[in-house]
Amino acid sequence: MKKTIGLYVHIPFCVKKCAYCDFASFSGREGDEETYVDAVLREAERRSGLEADIATLYIGGGTPSILPPQLMNRLLSGLRKRFVFLPDAECSCECNPGTVTADFLSVLRSHGINRLSFGAQAAQPRLLSLLGRIHTWARVEESVELARQAGFQNINLDLMLGLPTQTIEDVKETLEAALQLSPTHLSCYGLIVEEGTQMRRMVESGAWTLPDEDTEREMYELCRETLFRHGFAQYEISNFALPGFACRHNVDCWKRKEYIGLGSAACGFLGSTRYQNPPLLSDYLAGKPAEETGLSPEDAMFESVMLGLRMTEGVSNRDFLRMHGVSINEVYGEKLRKPLAQGLIAWHGDRLRLTRRGMDVQNSVLVELL
Ligand code: SF4
Repeated sequence: MKKTIGLYVHIPFCVKKCAYCDFASFSGREGDEETYVDAVLREAERRSGLEADIATLYIGGGTPSILPPQLMNRLLSGLRKRFVFLPDAECSCECNPGTVTADFLSVLRSHGINRLSFGAQAAQPRLLSLLGRIHTWARVEESVELARQAGFQNINLDLMLGLPTQTIEDVKETLEAALQLSPTHLSCYGLIVEEGTQMRRMVESGAWTLPDEDTEREMYELCRETLFRHGFAQYEISNFALPGFACRHNVDCWKRKEYIGLGSAACGFLGSTRYQNPPLLSDYLAGKPAEETGLSPEDAMFESVMLGLRMTEGVSNRDFLRMHGVSINEVYGEKLRKPLAQGLIAWHGDRLRLTRRGMDVQNSVLVELL
């Protein structure tokens, strides 16, 4: 049987940089969009020789929905020409609600995109403005409505927690507003104040104050409880889905399934090598090669545990044994003792999982294993 892999395509353009964003994304580069799509298709041509079918496609960014419909059409037709997609492939596209049009969505549908992910973030105008988002909540509602009219049923909304001035009441209101839109999936991310961002400068200068740890934990708990009540299951630290709607692309990445990454800053994982394309648009367009990192057996085992523990199902010892030829206990038995005793991780039959408490301190658990 032919193997299956994932495909990720990075679109690095945005209307405007958000205050918290350290992703490889650039504003004011509309003139480069066409050249970029052609460069991605050339890369697709180079990387398309693998004997593998595409099980999942994820178009992320940046803002994929910033591309004019005819360019997205060129990109998707080009990918379909170069790769063989499984008939039931999960094909996702990230959209910024400030940029979505009916024409754009219709192009996505015509090429088999069957899952949309909207960066909605928060329902309060003051928070959207503080984040530097280009849309209102009304625009989120309109975009989801447009998506429904175009025939999309599988819709994710990204929400953010732990924002400066955000209250528990704000989170409650945002969750209610989000659930009104009947999404199949919600991602609730805690804000990370990244170096070099406007957010970092504002927080460090004292102009913006973050909620304390207890309040942020309470926000997260509120998300969990509210979403459980509405039939969502948590399948990863930040991700919740109705039955059958977990994002297959992300789950495959956490299970260390191979994937091709195309575009500037895109990462890929093939065989025992991870690669990253040049993060700078100019370097990518100039044809600078990807940086490749060969994984040692130890790296691969650590990845299995690190990525597996993000998921609520945890890491299967049987899968670990099949993949690496040794059991989790043979490699990490000694190092697991402390977090097991502290109740941060626990065995559930064949699976090692983070406990609820362990989810809050995932990084310190991983440091024990390093
Ligand atoms: S839209 Fe997304 S990628 Fe673009 S600047 Fe904002 S957070 Fe970053």
